[in-house]
Amino acid sequence: MKAWVDKDGCIACELCTNICPEVFRMGDDDLAEAYVDTVPEEAEDAAREAADSCPVSVIHIEE
Ligand code: SF4
Repeated sequence: MKAWVDKDGCIACELCTNICPEVFRMGDDDLAEAYVDTVPEEAEDAAREAADSCPVSVIHIEE
C-alpha cells in the first residue's frame, strides 16, 4: 500500500502526523509528507484513518 500527500492543499493541521506517525511527518516546508515508500503493514489502518480524517482530503492511498 502506498500513501502520499498532495501538499498544495495541506493546511498543516498535523492530524495525520498524530494519527499515523509511522508514515506522515511535517516536512521542512511545514507541510505534511509521507516519508516511507511503502506503508508498513502494521500502519495500514492508521494510514487509512489519517486519509479519512484529513480535513481537506489531500492524503491519497493506493491499496
Ligand atoms: S491531515 Fe491533511 S491537512 Fe492536516 S497536516 Fe495532514 S495532510 Fe495536511
